[in-house]
Amino acid sequence: MFKEVTINTKNNEEIVDITEKVERLVKESNLNEGICTIFVKHTTASIIINENWDPSVGKDLLELLEEIAPKHKAYSHNDGNAHSHLKSAILGTSVTIPILNNELQLGRWQDIFLIEFDGPKERKIIVQIK
Ligand code: ZN
Repeated sequence: MFKEVTINTKNNEEIVDITEKVERLVKESNLNEGICTIFVKHTTASIIINENWDPSVGKDLLELLEEIAPKHKAYSHNDGNAHSHLKSAILGTSVTIPILNNELQLGRWQDIFLIEFDGPKERKIIVQIK
């Protein structure tokens, strides 16, 4: 199964939990055993797995990335979003999760997140289940 999912982010930087959307597609696929790849088709956003319980984990992550690639700094790429490209490159644009018994094999504290680094924008995410 190959699906494109659109997410409209609301803020310049934002963490969006997309786990339920992906789980719904896994159910629809009826696949008993396989893999699910989640891929964002942009260079200023990321897909990661992280803790789902305490939102302060996401806040700390954004703060860490801001220390590594601050918004206000002289970059060679000068269209104003160099820091967004760097943050996206550091975290990556896809994750792969095993499927067993038609369920994502996520750990108890793991959820799937889209991270926006240059929003608000319309973001296209590919979910491939096979
Ligand atoms: Zn750019």
